[in-house]
Amino acid sequence: MTNPLGVHASVFIGGTSQDQVRRAVELATATGYDLLELALLDPENIDVAGARKVVESAGISVSGSLGLAPTTDVSSEDPDAVAAGEKLLRSAVDVVAGLGGQHLCGVIYSAMGKYMAPATPRGRANAVAAMQRLADHATEQGVRLAVEVVNRYETNIMNTAGEAMAFLDEVDRPNVKVHVDTYHMNIEENTMDGPVLALGDRLGYVHIGESHRGYLGSGSVDFGPFFRALAQVGYTGPVVFESFSSAVVDPVLSNQLGVWRNLWDDSEHLARHARAFMHTGLESGIRAAAQA
Ligand code: MN
Repeated sequence: MTNPLGVHASVFIGGTSQDQVRRAVELATATGYDLLELALLDPENIDVAGARKVVESAGISVSGSLGLAPTTDVSSEDPDAVAAGEKLLRSAVDVVAGLGGQHLCGVIYSAMGKYMAPATPRGRANAVAAMQRLADHATEQGVRLAVEVVNRYETNIMNTAGEAMAFLDEVDRPNVKVHVDTYHMNIEENTMDGPVLALGDRLGYVHIGESHRGYLGSGSVDFGPFFRALAQVGYTGPVVFESFSSAVVDPVLSNQLGVWRNLWDDSEHLARHARAFMHTGLESGIRAAAQA
């Protein structure tokens, strides 16, 4: 098994102040992770030099993710929103590079929230053009992008891996891949293995989330076929646990995602449990793929 195992910072902290980053790095390291994914909703206010020291001394890798807001929506027809979104995304790429990271992922092509109408052709073209310019900037910074496929209540651009591939065809940049999340797949896809097999080497980032975004294995996601498919396509990228509870509140992200319930209190127990679950799942997937 060669995948870096990661954990989303929301398991531990609800922001990116220097103290919060330090705490997340300590807890991610203590619970056995190789990678910490930071939510870069406010990249311009992160102390990159300070965070880099913490990250390097812990020996952990960092990735970044975010979902855009209506005021920074690059799929909007409003040129001001598109420009603001591109500025935010470039800052996020620079933070990832500044922290020695390799991946920026998430809903970076759209606002993250419920749209009340389909994407317009002009809005979609704006999103494609923004991703092209961001990809070119990211290439210079040594950063790869991955666009996260999320459910219908969080974007109107792509809700399935098939739609993500169509979007990637339009963007047409080698450092832009697809980011899948088992929580969203469980809502929108027909199967848990088909999308992974269809993506193949266009899969660039993986979120592991349960149907209620709490403890892995306690919900309805069928993880077996998903992990087997990762092995079948030879996926070696990050596999990152993502979970949310009202026990850890990010003033922006928690509300965007509708985190109203308390699904866990003990971040460390949750994180250790998830790491063991993912490790076992990936190993079982390799065995199942070998027998298939
Ligand atoms: Mn996700």
